[in-house]
Order: sequence, then structure tokens, then C-alpha cells
Amino acid sequence: MNTLKEKIISRFVKFGGDLVRFGSVEQCTDPTVHLLMPEARTVICAAFRQLRGARRGIEEGSTYYQYTTNAVEVLEENVMPIALLRVCALLEDEGFEALPQRRNQTVMSAADDTNFEVDHREIYRNRQAEHQLDFEQCALDCGLGERGLSGSILTKEFGPFQRYVFILTDAEIEPDQPFSHHLCDHCGECVQACPGHALSAEGRRDRWQCSAYYIGANMTKNPFMPPEAFGDDPERLAIISGEVNLSPERARAIIEKLIYYPPIKHGYWSSICGRACDTACYIHLEEKGILTKKFNSPFRIRPEWHLPLLTTSSNPGETQSQRQKN
Ligand code: SF4
Ligand code: SF4
Repeated sequence: MNTLKEKIISRFVKFGGDLVRFGSVEQCTDPTVHLLMPEARTVICAAFRQLRGARRGIEEGSTYYQYTTNAVEVLEENVMPIALLRVCALLEDEGFEALPQRRNQTVMSAADDTNFEVDHREIYRNRQAEHQLDFEQCALDCGLGERGLSGSILTKEFGPFQRYVFILTDAEIEPDQPFSHHLCDHCGECVQACPGHALSAEGRRDRWQCSAYYIGANMTKNPFMPPEAFGDDPERLAIISGEVNLSPERARAIIEKLIYYPPIKHGYWSSICGRACDTACYIHLEEKGILTKKFNSPFRIRPEWHLPLLTTSSNPGETQSQRQKN
């Protein structure tokens, strides 16, 4: 007879989960856990891999839709909610209450924060009554992985390439051991890779800066940006080279001018940077040989490409298709 823990793991795996970890409420440092469910005894974390192949299009500069739809939208809106509901139903069949917890992308308690994965105009801010788990902290507390310098949770299987959900339950289930591997060596590759310098050397993410460069404010990494972009802006060169420091207000103004590519169905911005910070991290961890999920070939096969910075006057007739990658 399988234990409840084994049944939960098996059900998550059946519905697409890759990693399942269990934390006791005593080891959870996020007070929201206790607020949401004072009777909770266990926090269950399930991680779902982002396919490495979903990043291939942006790595090659050939297709941009696939990363956001397959590695963000379909996981967040389809695969993970279904798995959550099926596992919660299993717990309820066993007589326990189960609270499914997935990220709410558009409701924030802070007044001027943002979420770079969605349109900032769609976010409801200052909603103090909305309590959400600290997803990264809960993942750490459940033993899923380690927080890298970039802020991403790194697992020994997939590095930074996963997304995750939680279940709070009053079922008492044996917790897993804390994560004991050290993956992040503070190499700084994530910081270097950001086309908008949105990560400080200490790994602090400027979320407004990130929002502008996530959707392609750097011309050298955005094949959809026309040559005349930001032509009337005195800081044009600094913007399109990723050297500008954006206030939230300035980031919003830039984002308004930056939408060359349609959002994904559920309102996610299409990522143009391809989350280069995580990709660089993955490449680094892969090169070190410390990820347990192995591939027959390395992710980065060719040198990273960059498009030229175009001045508005020197080459006004040049089209996107004429721009050469170097
Ligand atoms: S790229 Fe290097 S510094 Fe950044 S999170 Fe990964 S291992 Fe840590
Ligand atoms: S690489 Fe992209 S996701 Fe990462 S910090 Fe920079 S803009 Fe944000």
C-alpha cells in the first residue's frame, strides 16, 4: 500500500510534475502560509520543467513566440493548474483539506511594484487584502533548490529552468531534507547576460528596468525593433544599448513605445530577452557538469549573436531583414 506521500508524488508526476518536495509548516518561514491556512501541517511544492527546447528560438534569434507560450503560459495556465487540482482532489479524497496555490500575476500588495511577465497596466496594486505566498521562499523552505544570485531558484536537475506551485494541507506528511547542494558560485554570468543591466552585481533585480528590457528595449537583441525606434528621444542610444537607468515612470513611457510583438494569449508579454539571465545561468551550470538532467549536446552551440546598433540617420532605408547578425 502506497503512503499518502507516494500517492501525491505519483499523481503529480502523472499530471506533468517533475519534482515534488514536502516541507513541514514548522520549517516554513513565510508567515503567509500560517495566514492562509492556520491548520496547515504540510506545504507541498511541485516543480515543472521548462523545456530547454522552448528557449531555442530566442537562442538562435529565429522565433520568439515559443518561449513565452510553452515555457510560461502553458505551464502556468494549463499544465500546473490541472495537476494542482488533481492532487488537491486526491488529498480531499483522503479526508484532508488542500489549498492550491499558483502565482497570481496581476494582483500586488505594493503600490509601485510590477511583474515583468505581464502588462504593467493590467496589474492591480495596493491590494493589501491579497495575500500571496512568497513563492521563492516557500520553494527554499520545501527543499526544492537554492536561490541563485539572480534570485531564481536553482535545482540540481534543471538549474533555473522550472516553474512551481504549492499545496497547503492539514495532512501531516513527512518533510524532505533541506536542499544541501551548492549550485550558485556567484559567477555573475546572469548579471552580465541581461541586455538591460536590470540585475545589480549583488543580484538585486530592478523590476521596472527588467520590464522594459524583457520585452526588448535593447536593439542588439531585438530583431523586431525598427531602425528609427526612439529616434526623438535624447537618450536613444543609452536606451537601445541597455545603458540607461530607468525610473518606473520612464520605464512605463518606454514600454509604451516598445510593443512590436503581440502578447501571448493569457496576457503574458512575449519575452524578447528570453530571460537571458536564466539562460546564462543554465549554460554556466551545464558547463560545470553539475546538472543531473543531461543532454547529448550543450545548449549553446554557436556564439551568442548581437544585432548592430543602428543610428537613425546613417541607414534609414535598411529593413529588419537586411540587418545582419554578427
Ligand atoms: S549565473 Fe552564476 S551567479 Fe548567476 S545565479 Fe547562476 S550560478 Fe549564480
Ligand atoms: S535578462 Fe531579461 S528577465 Fe533577466 S533581468 Fe534582464 S530583462 Fe529581466
